[in-house]
Amino acid sequence: MPRVRRNVSADFRQPTSEAQLAAMRADVRARCEDRPGVYRMTSPDGEIVYVGKSKRVRTRLLSYFRCAPGEKGARIVREATNIEWEYTPSEFAALLAELRLIKKLRPRFNVAMKRDARHFAFIKVTRGPANKLLVVRGAGDESADFYYGPYHGAQRVNEAVRELNDALGLRDCGSDRKMHFADQAELFQLSPRTPGCIRYEIRKCLGPCVAACTLDEYAGRVRMARAFLEGVDDSPLDGLRREMLASSERMEFERAASLRDKLSRLETLREQFIRFRFAVETLSFLYEVPGHAGDDRVYLIRRGRVRAERPAPKSAADRSDLRALADDVFSGVEYEGAGVPSHEIDELLLLSSWFRRFPAELERTETHKLARRQRRSA
Ligand code: SF4
Repeated sequence: MPRVRRNVSADFRQPTSEAQLAAMRADVRARCEDRPGVYRMTSPDGEIVYVGKSKRVRTRLLSYFRCAPGEKGARIVREATNIEWEYTPSEFAALLAELRLIKKLRPRFNVAMKRDARHFAFIKVTRGPANKLLVVRGAGDESADFYYGPYHGAQRVNEAVRELNDALGLRDCGSDRKMHFADQAELFQLSPRTPGCIRYEIRKCLGPCVAACTLDEYAGRVRMARAFLEGVDDSPLDGLRREMLASSERMEFERAASLRDKLSRLETLREQFIRFRFAVETLSFLYEVPGHAGDDRVYLIRRGRVRAERPAPKSAADRSDLRALADDVFSGVEYEGAGVPSHEIDELLLLSSWFRRFPAELERTETHKLARRQRRSA
């Protein structure tokens, strides 16, 4: 976390009134400096209702008091009776601090206004004995092991995931459905078998709910789906290609055309993921950010997430410490898969949007030799 200096306004106990608003504004005017930082607004009962950031905190806070009634800013400040702010070394540090505070405190107004990740579709791999692939908007809930994405076009991604589920026999039923694997059958005395659903009958699902496959068999198909999304296993495409050729040889042209469309949807999905993965790997470097009053920082960013932060080195000893830290941060394989853990998605999106908005900032970055190697192999 960035080093911060904290100021706390007077602690008002009564609900917001015009007089209190005036007092809060006077307090900001008197004490707040115009420099980067984060702020939080607290209601009379101590609830943090909103967290924000700005590269000029004083200007930003005063703007709330000029909002017309009904505007978002007016609604927020009228719920608050207390404003706290903390200075950060730079706007970049303020962005990171804001994100981390929102994740930790989940203020009501931030949650209601959160939009970023919801622009994108993600493929979520659920936890549990028979994992499912689900398409969701936004990411960040902790009920998944990994997310794949972000992808554009939720509907196309949905169709492609349906094809992938069908091709590999993965389930798509509700999370409350009980699973009975073949190697657990004796526990549940499933004889004769209880019916699965139509997908099992038409061989689109392995039937983990009706003891038609073992836990290992099903887990193997999930691994295959993940390997496909990561671009290292083509078997789902090969199977469809074989079926398409066979249909066309049997002159079943309608079926062959439908299989061709399925193939194309799956190929598009996988290409999108490979492009995304490459983009993530390119977000691996040391990033030096000039700070307020010389408080310059170096961020060690690997795969789109800040792994460490240090004051910019000022001596040979500092530089040597930083090199040792970088060797540590950039060495080793991080995850088995190329997906992104759910708790890291928001930071990844924040960093990629930062460097998209300010491409000149990339000139302040330096790629570590290990990151360069990992990027080449992505
Ligand atoms: S066969 Fe069973 S596990 Fe598969 S989708 Fe149908 S209900 Fe779910």
